[in-house]
Amino acid sequence: MRNTVNILGIPVDNVSMAEALNIVKGFLNEDRVHTVYTPNSEIMMAAQRDPELKEILCQADLLVPDGAGVVLASKINGCPLKERVAGFDLTNMLFSDDTSKNINYFFFGGKPGVAEEAYKNLLDRRININVVGIRNGYFTKDEEDEIIRQINNSNTDVLLVALGAPKQEKWIHENKKKLKVKLCIGVGGTLDVLSGRAKRAPVFFQKHGLEWLYRLYKEPWRFVRMMDLPRFILRVIANRIKPKRA
Ligand code: UDP
Repeated sequence: MRNTVNILGIPVDNVSMAEALNIVKGFLNEDRVHTVYTPNSEIMMAAQRDPELKEILCQADLLVPDGAGVVLASKINGCPLKERVAGFDLTNMLFSDDTSKNINYFFFGGKPGVAEEAYKNLLDRRININVVGIRNGYFTKDEEDEIIRQINNSNTDVLLVALGAPKQEKWIHENKKKLKVKLCIGVGGTLDVLSGRAKRAPVFFQKHGLEWLYRLYKEPWRFVRMMDLPRFILRVIANRIKPKRA
């Protein structure tokens, strides 16, 4: 039985990082495609405007709170989530786990060269995972069949999809039935960070739920999109104080 917390109609899994890792490892023992998404406040808010995205998130096999805002929302709702489970951390925990010796990974997404650099950096750090295929994230609709063929011919267990949100969630959902993998994770900018082309917020910002502030400083053009963060919290508060119909 899943332990979830409903946030604006989306069931977010109430799991610690260790529990999330165990669930993900469990997926690898089952013979079907599983989906894991890691929404932050922006995506949770985008899903309020986009019913298709909301349905995709609702259908995930595991939905973990990537952002401090999602954890805050659960507290406002009176059902606090155990902790923030960032997609970047979850992916890295899986890489470092003993089971990774027996897992084949496929890195799909990012600008040309990014996934290769990410893999090289992992190997340099002695994180000896098996990456059996790489494909950058810039493609036309016509190229999709070939990409799926490449993935299916590579004996992949875990497909990391780094197309940014919500593109990655929609791509996974649309192609899930055609994919012969055990697990698809939407990992956003994870490959950029692993490649060294992007930097994660310093630990202080991460610990204090201020990763958004660091990102705003580094990527000010995200301002408009980031307004979804306060919008999301306001929506959660409004929903909380709304008189319930008898
Ligand atoms: N990206 C991609 N194909 C696209 C759009 C984006 O591969 O058509 C990649 C982009 O290169 C980056 C990643 O998706 O590596 C995350 O993009 P972004 O930072 O915009 O998304 P977020 O981290 O906010 O989900």
